[in-house]
Amino acid sequence: MPTRKMSRAFFAVVLALLLLVLPAQALAQESRIAMVPNGSKTMWSPGRFVEIPGFPGKRIDRRLLPDVAWLVRRYDLRITSAYTLSKGHEQSGEHPRGLAIDVVPARGGSWASLARLARWAKPAGGIPRKPFRWVGYNGDKGHGDPSHCKVRKGCLPHLHLSWQHGYTPRARAAPWVNVLRFRPLDGVGHLVETDHAADPILGLHQLEAPVDLVQP
Ligand SMILES: [Zn+2]
Repeated sequence: MPTRKMSRAFFAVVLALLLLVLPAQALAQESRIAMVPNGSKTMWSPGRFVEIPGFPGKRIDRRLLPDVAWLVRRYDLRITSAYTLSKGHEQSGEHPRGLAIDVVPARGGSWASLARLARWAKPAGGIPRKPFRWVGYNGDKGHGDPSHCKVRKGCLPHLHLSWQHGYTPRARAAPWVNVLRFRPLDGVGHLVETDHAADPILGLHQLEAPVDLVQP
């Protein structure tokens, strides 16, 4: 039979555990705030090539992780290429600098969704929206959806996105990179900084439930 002293000790332990767990839950809830892009910003923090969560073997400059996570969720993307020194990519471009992704629809995604992303990232006029440096899709050689980029003609359909950055030789992280700035969806909260490249997990958790506000 447990004595009163023992049960008191038991409750003390339970209480201590709850106190440990509750702040973590509150943090998790808070970090599920829906975020929407709100312009761009320049990041000077040191870059490093890291694996993209959810895409084993695919690496990118860590400063892009929040942008990439948001894009993947918002547009149901699968990343087919990111940081690579492969000669199949433009050597003066962003793939050998960890500042580009090639994407196709994820299972459950669609080319229509990629088309929306392409239009948002490169509005009419053909100039990419900041922070994007180059957007390769329909009309660009070697890029586009399957009706513009035909496999039988040796074209692998995909959308390319790369980010603006300071000069760097290949295989080295850039001194600075422009990234998306985000704000909470409700628009009444304070601007939430997303300098979470230093903490990719938090950065990823913050990016959820993307909405149509971001559409042109
Ligand atoms: Zn590419």
